[in-house]
Amino acid sequence: MSVEQREKIQNYIQGQLKAPISGKYLDNFNPATGEVYSYIPDSEEQDVVEAVQSAKRAFHTWSKTPVETRSDFLLKIAKRIEDNAEELARIESIDNGKPISQARKVDIPRASKNFRFFASAIFHFASECHETDTKALNYTLRHPLGVVGCISPWNLPLYLFTWKIVPALATGNCVVAKPSEMAPMTTFLLSKICMEVGLPEGVLNIVHGLGNKVGSTITKAPEISAISFTGGTQTGKEIALQAAPQFKKLSLEMGGKNPALIFSDCDYEEALQETIRSSFANQGQICLSTSRIFVEKSLYAKFRKDFVDGVKKLTCGDPLEESTQQGALISRSHMDRVLSYIRLAKEEGGTILCGGSQAKMEGRLKNGWFVNPTVIEGLPMESRANQEEIFGPVVTITPFDHENQALTWANQTPYGLATTVWTRDLCRAHRMAREICAGIIWMNCWMQRDLRTPFGGMKSSGVGREGGMEIFRFFTEPKNVCIKMEVL
Ligand code: NAD
Repeated sequence: MSVEQREKIQNYIQGQLKAPISGKYLDNFNPATGEVYSYIPDSEEQDVVEAVQSAKRAFHTWSKTPVETRSDFLLKIAKRIEDNAEELARIESIDNGKPISQARKVDIPRASKNFRFFASAIFHFASECHETDTKALNYTLRHPLGVVGCISPWNLPLYLFTWKIVPALATGNCVVAKPSEMAPMTTFLLSKICMEVGLPEGVLNIVHGLGNKVGSTITKAPEISAISFTGGTQTGKEIALQAAPQFKKLSLEMGGKNPALIFSDCDYEEALQETIRSSFANQGQICLSTSRIFVEKSLYAKFRKDFVDGVKKLTCGDPLEESTQQGALISRSHMDRVLSYIRLAKEEGGTILCGGSQAKMEGRLKNGWFVNPTVIEGLPMESRANQEEIFGPVVTITPFDHENQALTWANQTPYGLATTVWTRDLCRAHRMAREICAGIIWMNCWMQRDLRTPFGGMKSSGVGREGGMEIFRFFTEPKNVCIKMEVL
């Protein structure tokens, strides 16, 4: 498995690799060098139309294919990902700018795990049966929806793409999928893997290109009955506006402004190290990343010092070096946006405790898009830098007086994706879990994922839940059958 120099990515439609109909391509950048290293199809409406037709043709057979056969295809793909893990990790690192250690440990293993998990979970997907006194028996059928659309972001490219397409395929749907145009290379390689294992034609179709062309056409296509989307909240709003009048099913996984609440009775060393990780892993570009840290006043001075000392040690480096902990941001415009939030935080009264600037690199990285990990103190809770998602290596840190204040601040943004709480007080842990408005609560841990659990956010962070049986329910239509029973 390899990528040729200046390779032109192709769409995957009707089981074949296809150039975009227009023949036009977009530049694909290596974020660590700022250079164009490959090309992405600039697909248009007609490419999506072909993909939808291909999925429609495949649906009848795929939806009736035995679960065991569908599962076998998914397991074969998992195996191919595992066989090519090292190369996929290297390519993910080049395409996205993330440290290769992260791609090796997290992104690629999780992509194959998505296949393995849903390939086996589908055997356990059961429907309900209700006996209505002695009068009737109700049973619920759950059938695939037909052709579904999956749209994914750039921060965990293959990981999040497969998180959507695999449960859709496992439940017997055919898919038209669009990876992010910012990091599409590993999904292109996935289409080659699908061809190698002989996945039936048209079952999965991947159309590359821009959100406002390809994504929007998928969202509007009348033959697509559901959209599973992960990305920014503003994009989610646009998708909802386009899809809602057609009454499409929607699963929207969107942005966050995740707090970490650190109480003085926490396991200090673990809370410290994990908060550094939760704030800066993948350059803070994980939807679950911590972006606001609240520390109990009695612990604040010590935590602040140790935290900043720890963050200063996270130097930016070549993403392809095993020792690198901080890679590049995804694009120049994203880097500029992150830097603009740091400037804004200063204007809003914040003090930069470390970082605060673009990281100047040398040699082949001199034009790369690196930002020094940044910690900001003293920002009012209502400031924009404390309210809006920055999605980069930037956190704010604030002392709190008592539990209620921390709780109020934690809930005081439009978002509600994830919250981390560090305390050894069991009663407080349960109180917090009840009161925090977030779909995911990490108690004394971060990023401990169990794929069986519901995943998603509240408020502006999301609509619906993915993961486990939740996503199987999303990708199927329940149909209740009521049978009258005769009483003897
Ligand atoms: P984005 O919203 O810009 O793009 C996401 C995807 O949507 C891309 O494939 C893009 O091409 C497509 N898109 C853009 N405009 C579209 C339109 N009008 N119609 C249809 N599709 C369109 O997000 P991004 O910059 O790729 O990703 C970062 C965002 O994703 C952050 O806000 C982050 O919090 C969020 N995210 C959320 C989760 C989660 O599970 N909640 C996970 C990862 C990332």
